[in-house]
Amino acid sequence: SALSRTLEVDINGGWKEGTPVPYAALAHTFSLIESTTKRLEKTAYLTSFLLLVIQRSAPGDYESLLHTVYLCINRLSPDYIGIELGIGESLLIKAISESTGRSAATVKADLKKEGDLGLVAQNSKNSQKTLFKPKPLTVPFIFKSLKEIALASGQASQAKKVSIITKLLAACQGSEAKYIIRSLEGKLRIGNAERTVVVALAHAVVLAERENDTKKWSKEKLASRLEQGAEIVKSVYSELPSYDLVIPALLEFGVDGLKQKCNLTPGVPLKPMLAKPTKAIGEVLDRFENKRFTCEYKYDGERAQVHKLPDGSLAVFSRNSEDMSKKYPDLVDQIPRCIKESVNSFVLDAEAVAIERSTGKLLPFQELSKRKRKDVKLEDIEVKVCLFAFDLLYLNGEPLLQMSLSDRRNLLKEHFQAVDGEFQFAKSSDGESVEEIQTFLEESVKDGCEGLMVKMLESEASFYEPSRRSVNWLKIKKDYLAGIGDSLDLVVVGAYYGKGKRTNVYGAFLLACYDADAEEYQTICKIGTGFSDEILQAHYETLKPLEQEKPRGDIKVGGAKPDIWFEPKVVWEVLTADLSLSPIYTAAQGLVEDRGISLRFPRFIRIRDDKAEDDATGPEQIAEMYERQALSHSKGRKGKKGG
Ligand code: ATP
Repeated sequence: SALSRTLEVDINGGWKEGTPVPYAALAHTFSLIESTTKRLEKTAYLTSFLLLVIQRSAPGDYESLLHTVYLCINRLSPDYIGIELGIGESLLIKAISESTGRSAATVKADLKKEGDLGLVAQNSKNSQKTLFKPKPLTVPFIFKSLKEIALASGQASQAKKVSIITKLLAACQGSEAKYIIRSLEGKLRIGNAERTVVVALAHAVVLAERENDTKKWSKEKLASRLEQGAEIVKSVYSELPSYDLVIPALLEFGVDGLKQKCNLTPGVPLKPMLAKPTKAIGEVLDRFENKRFTCEYKYDGERAQVHKLPDGSLAVFSRNSEDMSKKYPDLVDQIPRCIKESVNSFVLDAEAVAIERSTGKLLPFQELSKRKRKDVKLEDIEVKVCLFAFDLLYLNGEPLLQMSLSDRRNLLKEHFQAVDGEFQFAKSSDGESVEEIQTFLEESVKDGCEGLMVKMLESEASFYEPSRRSVNWLKIKKDYLAGIGDSLDLVVVGAYYGKGKRTNVYGAFLLACYDADAEEYQTICKIGTGFSDEILQAHYETLKPLEQEKPRGDIKVGGAKPDIWFEPKVVWEVLTADLSLSPIYTAAQGLVEDRGISLRFPRFIRIRDDKAEDDATGPEQIAEMYERQALSHSKGRKGKKGG
């Protein structure tokens, strides 16, 4: 049924084989996806649409599928190239008003009513009388135009952007304007998580394969091929997160050939492996019972994935796959000194940590966060940085992800050398008793680290799992031991005006977590402590430009009533004493109970500008924290009862 509804997009046979994908067809698919909250249905709509795209593309044309997929995830390039949309509201209002002949004030008033500029654009268009039917928009044309807009820079760029957008809007029909405007804003808001797109892509390729097969497939064969296909594409994409590379290979070699053709490649940052929090050393021993594991210092810096390409060039990528080579020219300068002659190409996983060179003392993350993000000049650098390498993921043409950690670590030590104050191997201890871990933890804290990372050392369980928060990596932070628990990374979505001394700045803030499946921000708490006056002033300056009168459509508000709303963008790390169920906030609603979960006594720790808004803590993690806390409370009570 998804297929037949998607086929309605065929717009009177206007989409012939070998012709460009009509944008109206994609917009129609977006409407179908937006119309349901069920993940399986969303995937089915997208799958059948992508299947149509594959079937109607001329042989050798992979761009139709590539551009369609990019528009579905609202991106224009792989993350590390970083061509970004996110055009300011006022510019879009100007373009809407110019192309529909309505005044900017009316458009603004409509926006206040609707809370969705996309819808305002669509309504403005549809109430406009047009004499000529415009030439239909196509996916390649929209992709090219969006890219031109995103790349426009320099003096005349604003005018250029408005002019391209105005022309696009003039040619829009039906719901096209809605999605074009939302794309330009940087959020499609159809609840189409990237995971769904990857699965739909895999399914579409498998279905195309079935249609081309002269033999009939049994139901069982189809189901198993679909499942297998999704697993393969997910795993390949997490290793090589570039559709520019994965899609052509997928079309040419099919799901089965993909693994051979696409592997980790220096120059394309992979999504890093992440750790699960643990509350006590006992928990580590429970999880890793009878297995060999290692404890490493958890350095308090910024994750740095260092790549050396066979042509000799070096690149440093952030946790978010952003190119940080311009932020750390000193690292780029230092790294060649730690590479032995045997090395031609590599990918290192490491932490960049601020260091006092004269004493070797490690400095907290805050020192690094003072650095500009771009165009740092070597001669201006005051705070030096040392790279602490903890993993080797690729060496001389070979990906090492599926090798045990102990083997990867041996290779790391064999091919690299420590240089005082510039490059070190993460300090580790393979001791396995509670006492040994406790001692090592205390040592790590004394040396300026956040605590320990505990990692599985042998066998498959120790393979590197890109983009996974894995149970094979556990973190123990010193804060957990004080009973405070893990910190959360939350998005600032609103603020309350200050009182008394704080009247010229915001006095408290509304925070939200991010549900990547539903693509929505869920409110979680109001926070007003942990801020110095200087910090409040700094927050005011960062947040003021993001002010909005109404909550954006993808914020699930609940009963929260801040004085002002923000576009979700800024991420803060926050600690809490406790989590509780709440009738007001919407975080993790339905996961533990119908009510949401809220933080009690939240405290601001720091700004996380290495995280994007959609990297914020998710509702599952919050539910997990809540349940763990409930469990430890009940254990505590039982313990007391038992004497
Ligand atoms: P956190 O706020 O704890 O840094 P996170 O979500 O960024 O959380 P986690 O998986 O929770 O990431 O913790 C792992 C992070 O700790 C890594 O991203 C890395 O930046 C840092 N780190 C420091 N030392 C190590 C180490 N020895 N091994 C792995 N990661 C390390």
